[in-house]
Amino acid sequence: MSRQGRGWCPFADQIEGITSFDSGFVDRVGWCDHTASGYYSTLTSPDFWNNEGLSVHFAIALDGRIAQLLNIFDTAYSQGLDANGNDVNQSSPNVTYKPFAAMNYGNPNGYLISTEHEDRQVTNLVWPEAMYQADLRVKRWCVEECKTQNLNALRFNIDSLAGHYMFDPVNRAYCPGNNWPRERLYNDLVGEPLMIRKNGVANPTFWHGRTLGGRQTMNAAFDFNLPPNTKAFRLEVLMTNGNLTVYDGAGNYAGQTRSGYGMIDVYPKDGWITLDGTGVINILGIVGYWI
Ligand SMILES: [Zn+2]
Repeated sequence: MSRQGRGWCPFADQIEGITSFDSGFVDRVGWCDHTASGYYSTLTSPDFWNNEGLSVHFAIALDGRIAQLLNIFDTAYSQGLDANGNDVNQSSPNVTYKPFAAMNYGNPNGYLISTEHEDRQVTNLVWPEAMYQADLRVKRWCVEECKTQNLNALRFNIDSLAGHYMFDPVNRAYCPGNNWPRERLYNDLVGEPLMIRKNGVANPTFWHGRTLGGRQTMNAAFDFNLPPNTKAFRLEVLMTNGNLTVYDGAGNYAGQTRSGYGMIDVYPKDGWITLDGTGVINILGIVGYWI
């Protein structure tokens, strides 16, 4: 089997040998995300899937590794059962997937791209940043790949992002879990690119080529290399155009700057802040911080 061209992700590790799926080109209207209750090593084992009679298109590891198991235009067996164990259909109980009627109450295996996420059996896992970025990269690729087939993977806006629990709220109530970053993913998928450089210099760990969506939540300790107990810090920024607004971890307004030079004091509640902006900004540096 040649894994190049339509539907094959060029930056994923290709895992061949899955037999439990339906082949054939089908429409794609979005994704269904899962949490694996297990390990990446299992998710990349064809025997595991074939023995279970299940499959997914992608598996993503906590450290950001990406595996592709099926072509995105083939049908995986991953979210097709309802709370009663029957194929999802119009009489399935308590389906909360909003576009369900628009999709004629069809089985969601037939129109969603499914991704398993390693969780090492942690319920409600908070995705590590590496996993988040890998998942976002895959979804961005899916959007572009679908465009080449005149398909729109974002046609239902944020409802293009489904979770397994929407089809089976009983047996899959915690799939993909309460910390599934649905809004962040959506904002990053539709947001304008926002490039950040630290001191105007590429930094291999974060700043170089980092594209933010229109709104992006960041961890101060991870993204800015600040101590985890930082209460506030001052960003020195230079905007070539556009504008930047910063919110604290509770979503409260924390500062804003427009074209030109500015300082923003940022209060990273619980260690998190959100940057929301357009255009190109240069973060000249962290002027200082308080702990
Ligand atoms: Zn699931």
